[in-house]
Amino acid sequence: MKLQEIKNIDIDGKKVFIRCDFNVPMDEYNNISDDRRIRSALNTIRYCIDRDCSIILASHFGRPTEAAEEKYSLKPIAKRLHTLLKQEIKMAKNVVQDDTLELAKNLQPGEILLLENLRYNAGETKNDEEFAKKLASMAEIYVNDAFGVSHRAHASVEAITKYFDMNHKAAGFLLAKEIKFFHHIVESPKRPFVSIVGGSKVSGKLEVLHNLITKVDKILIGGGMAFTFLKALGLEVGKSLVEDDLIPEAIKIMDEAKQLGVKLYLPVDVVAAEAFDAEAIAKLVTVQEIPKNWMGLDIGPATAQMFRLALSDANTILWNGPMGVYEMEKFAKGSTRIANTVAQSFATTVVGGGDTADLVRVTGDEDDMTFISTGGGASLELIEGKILPGVKALVIEE
Ligand code: AMP
Repeated sequence: MKLQEIKNIDIDGKKVFIRCDFNVPMDEYNNISDDRRIRSALNTIRYCIDRDCSIILASHFGRPTEAAEEKYSLKPIAKRLHTLLKQEIKMAKNVVQDDTLELAKNLQPGEILLLENLRYNAGETKNDEEFAKKLASMAEIYVNDAFGVSHRAHASVEAITKYFDMNHKAAGFLLAKEIKFFHHIVESPKRPFVSIVGGSKVSGKLEVLHNLITKVDKILIGGGMAFTFLKALGLEVGKSLVEDDLIPEAIKIMDEAKQLGVKLYLPVDVVAAEAFDAEAIAKLVTVQEIPKNWMGLDIGPATAQMFRLALSDANTILWNGPMGVYEMEKFAKGSTRIANTVAQSFATTVVGGGDTADLVRVTGDEDDMTFISTGGGASLELIEGKILPGVKALVIEE
């Protein structure tokens, strides 16, 4: 797969529309609590500034239910961009109304215009052609640098690409880096390749599991999804999260692993609690002895130790999904242990998914990972082997 990249097209002095992912978390005072997504977009923006482009930036932010809902305005993003880039950011009052189109038209080389939240316009999530056409009319070049939304067929990601030919659209540096990294990891990993999969449900990651099993040497399953597998093996798992309808799928995955010689690991002990509650009474039990009305909310220390051994000879580790309910301190130890183990490994370590990225930041292991993906859903779809809608139009036919 060859991606059209920004460095391979002529953008000098042109008007460039860059779809960014500025969907950053905010605290209760409306402060940006983590500006990584904004900082990750700077390489592409600076590259365009240096080439005398007039730059139009666009992003969604949250899920506004009505147009112009103030708390979803991109104004705080404009301020942060101003601080980081040390230059004026013109803030549009809306997305594609006449005054904004006029601002875009008059934009001078080196100037930056930030549009209001794309989702103020209902056409964005509907992949509306008319809306996309208006967005496209603002610029000569389209750049997608929003990996986190590239798995969605939205107007600023998918429909808009129809209005630019192959020499006038490209992936920005961030998008290209993420796509290339995942492609490489999944298609030609240095072996042994070990994947750790966790999170809440099997259903959310069924295709991921099916695809991974054909590529990895070992797979370690933790989190809520492990209980469907344990139940499929005939164990009593009490009130733990189980998707009964997916038990046949779980059996299929385990059979496939066996046939392919892939070593599949499931928890041997768990922290079980009486209720899904941070204050619930909890105890450590083997998976054979989960009390009837209790639920497993974290992997236990024996499982963490077993996973550590399984990871010890890995040359590539791909991790997606926490090992337990890490948001509650009582059930965060298993995920923390695995985060520390992965961080200490000499393997190429790739962390994908919002929760897992969040987790390794909290445990202080962020700097020791080789690569942390900014997009949760998008990285999962790449592992599933799909071509993302936002990327498809940027692939050069060979
Ligand atoms: P996902 O979005 O599928 O990656 O799942 C992440 C969520 O899974 C986190 O919010 C965790 O709290 C939750 N989770 C992890 N382990 C368990 C468990 N044993 N039971 C219930 N939820 C879990």
